[in-house]
Amino acid sequence: MSKLPASCCEARLLVPAAVAALVVEVGIVVGRLHHQLGVGLADASVHLGVDRLGLYMLHARDPAVPLADSIGALNDAIAGLPSERVRFHVCWGNNEGPHHLDIELKDILDVLLTAQPAGLVLESCNPRHGHEWKLFAASKLPDEKYVVPGVIDTTTNFIEHPELVAQRIRQWVDLVGSERVIAGTDCGFATWAGPRRVVPSIAWAKLESLVAGARLAS
Ligand SMILES: [Zn+2]
Repeated sequence: MSKLPASCCEARLLVPAAVAALVVEVGIVVGRLHHQLGVGLADASVHLGVDRLGLYMLHARDPAVPLADSIGALNDAIAGLPSERVRFHVCWGNNEGPHHLDIELKDILDVLLTAQPAGLVLESCNPRHGHEWKLFAASKLPDEKYVVPGVIDTTTNFIEHPELVAQRIRQWVDLVGSERVIAGTDCGFATWAGPRRVVPSIAWAKLESLVAGARLAS
């Protein structure tokens, strides 16, 4: 294969800087988590998401950086919080790049499952990771955990057909059970303010398709 760019938006952080950034990011998130949970614990409907585990910015840049260290930092960060109400996003980078250098889920799933949050938010329908749901047939999802698989691709302006969304949801339900699947989007529709790939009106239409697909699958 001829040399391809790793991504449309190459990582701009060197690994040491990325580690430092991750630590800062985790620290900020933790402060918010504790504050929000402190305020919101009385409301059992409150769930918090940790966004994100920097597979793309950190571990893909240097496979020598142990993923277990990041998981350990995450676990330390949320220690004492109700894990069933915390979910974390595993991110390969929300961009329409080739992604051929992404770490494969099969190589990291065991480590990911040691994370404390009960919810595992996965990119699972884009062209590079859309096959990985099958791993959950062999990898037993611990009883206390659930998945939030992406069934809508956030990097394209295609509006997924609701039946396709339903098929994707059913794939997961068949593997781990309906009580442990929350249909989601692959990532966010814009990683930061400014650049965005998906036209906002189309993003809303994709979310409508997500809802319609979830109804079909129910
Ligand atoms: Zn992501």
